[in-house]
Parts: sequence; C-alpha cells; structure tokens
Amino acid sequence: MESKKLIIAIDGYSSCGKSTLAQELANSLNYIFIDSGAMYRAVTLYCLRKGWVNGNFLDKESIIKSLDQIQLDFSQDDNGVKVILLNSENCEQEIRKSYVAAVVSKIAEIKEVREKLVEEQQRMGERGGIVMDGRDIGTVVFPNADIKLFLTATIEVRVERRLLELQNKGIETTKEEVRENLIQRDLIDSNRKESPLKRAEDAIVLDNSLLRREEQLQWALEQVQIRKSNPT
Ligand code: C5P
Repeated sequence: MESKKLIIAIDGYSSCGKSTLAQELANSLNYIFIDSGAMYRAVTLYCLRKGWVNGNFLDKESIIKSLDQIQLDFSQDDNGVKVILLNSENCEQEIRKSYVAAVVSKIAEIKEVREKLVEEQQRMGERGGIVMDGRDIGTVVFPNADIKLFLTATIEVRVERRLLELQNKGIETTKEEVRENLIQRDLIDSNRKESPLKRAEDAIVLDNSLLRREEQLQWALEQVQIRKSNPT
C-alpha cells in the first residue's frame, strides 16, 4: 500500500535555504514543491509594472481592485527547472532582482493579497504530497501540516548564500545591498499585522548555518521517517 502523502511546511527568515531544502525534499519524496515567496514576488512584479509601488509610494486600492487579473501558475523551463508564470509569462528571473526584493515585503503586508495567495496555496495542498516553503506556511496556510520545519542561520551565512545565488543567476548586486535587504525584509515580515513570520509552536527548528545541503536534506528526511513511523 502506498504510504500517506504528507504536507510539509518549511518556514524561516530570508535566505535560510528554505527553497533549496523544500525542492530537494520534494524531489526525494516525489512530492510537489511550491515556493510561496515566488508568488508574492510575482504579484509584486505586476504591481511594479503598473506603477502601483515605487519607493514609499503604494497604491493599495488599485492593487486590491486588480487582484483577480493576476493569474499565477508554476511550470518547468526547457531545463526542467521549476518556474513561476505571471499571466502566462515566465518571470522567474525577473522576480529575483533587487528592485523586486526591495518592495516585496510591502506588498506581502496587504491583507487581500495574502488572502488570495493563501487560498491558492491551500488548494495546491489539498491532496497532500507537497512541500511548501515561506513565512506563514506552518502557522496560517497549513496549520495542520504533518511536518513543520523552521530554518534559521546566522545573518553572515544568509548574506553569503543569497549573494552566491544571485551571482549564479547573473544578477548584479553587492554584499551591502543584500544584507540591507535581508534585514529589512525580516523586520517587516516579522512585525506585520497579517500573518507575521513566526515559528509555529509545533515546528522543529534547524539552525543550518554549519550544515551542507546534503546534511540538511538528510536531517529533513529523518524527520519524515520519524513522522511516518509515528502517525497520529
Ligand atoms: O521566500 P522569498 O524570500 O522569495 O519571499 C519574498 C518575500 O515574500 C518575503 O520577504 C515575504 O515578504 C513574502 N512572503 C510572505 N509569505 C510567504 C512567502 C513569502 O509574506 N509565505
């Protein structure tokens, strides 16, 4: 008999390696991987293009009114890499750029934006067999997730990881810009009124500052095994 397909929630601060772990875990288990941050980034890109967010300016009313015109989907590029589609356009590369990262947390504070995305995320997880990473997955999106992981790492490690990731994608930035953005986003994400980033009480915490990718994956697979042998 095929074993039950779990819902696995991974939350944590910016650039803790959540998406890397979620993707690798999903591959190992043959589950779906959803990067919920990409969804907030894609909505942000849409708003930037419309001129509804710019520095401290935010046209919340227009954003809320137009939410039903934003269609998000996940697909695969020619290399089999998962990408997000914004109204059918592959915007995976664009949403990683600094100008999107600089304002995404402001868009993610809007209650109506969160309601739309949370509803879509919950629909994606209806059948289980999913690993989703973000900020509110274990607390709001899937409060009854089978496994909740909360990742942390030192700011130095996180800056280095994000810098390397952006460099590998050919996106130009500086260490200072990355550091400033991570600190700023964590601050907004942790203090916002709607679904702030916080550890779910029943989440298992992992500080992965000193772990290699394979080691963190191994640890997560062990958590899955423990959970499967202790179903409730
Ligand atoms: O995960 P990533 O760094 O790409 O997320 C970008 C931003 O999207 C976060 O800084 C946060 O403001 C927002 N986000 C969120 N809730 C999630 C995922 C991301 O508010 N579940």
